Amino acid sequence: LFQKYLQNEKVETIAHVAASLAHEVRNPLTAVMGFLKLIRNEAISKEKTNYYIDICVEEMKRTEVILSEYLSIAKPSTPIYEQMDLVPQLNSVIDIMTPYANMNNVALEVHNEGQQLYISANPNEIKQLLINFIKNAIEACSCISKGKVIIRMAPESRISAKITIHDNGVGLSNEQLERLGTIYFSTKSKGTGVGLTLSYQLIRSMNGAIHVRSTLGKGTEFVISLPLTN
Ligand code: ADP
Ligand code: MG
Repeated sequence: LFQKYLQNEKVETIAHVAASLAHEVRNPLTAVMGFLKLIRNEAISKEKTNYYIDICVEEMKRTEVILSEYLSIAKPSTPIYEQMDLVPQLNSVIDIMTPYANMNNVALEVHNEGQQLYISANPNEIKQLLINFIKNAIEACSCISKGKVIIRMAPESRISAKITIHDNGVGLSNEQLERLGTIYFSTKSKGTGVGLTLSYQLIRSMNGAIHVRSTLGKGTEFVISLPLTN
């Protein structure tokens, strides 16, 4: 078992992102260019042509995702903060994520003690944050049988709202844990490695904290604390 504090410096890497972004975008561009040249060759069958076109579309979609995620980090819109209860936000995120969990054969379980948890935040950011963590937890369980994601919400010493996202998925090695939150760190073939960096940044902007515990092959637990307003 390994526990570790989020270092603020990790988030600072965002400032150095421009060069790596250019690199990220150049790869799919090169791929698309190559396929377009192939398609131009008339000796190629209709089937092959369609196949190449599909690859191009996928590459372009991926580039679009990278760019829009990047923009949301580099240029965070000045969000309007409001007093809001976390519980209904979580419920709406669970509704959004349940089909995704079902598709991956992962059980989603929610526990909250029923009380309201008022924080000062932007509802869209909170939803985005919860979606990022829950989506990662589901994906971590997608390859195992009896995958389960448990989300808990409770007040902690009346000071903060504690959100726990626990999964029994693939877990992380100590090396991977070290890199967690670093931009573009992803172990997924179609991952972007942007979601967690963005989430960490959001937590920091809300004066929150995050802890992670993970065991390779056993699962991972993220604990997010956000200051309560009353
Ligand atoms: P992406 O999901 O696109 O890969 P993220 O920034 O959301 O990017 O996550 C970065 C990486 O952190 C993931 O690729 C994965 O290796 C690791 N990770 C995040 N959450 C979990 C989790 N619950 N279990 C195991 N690994 C995780
Ligand atoms: Mg993710």
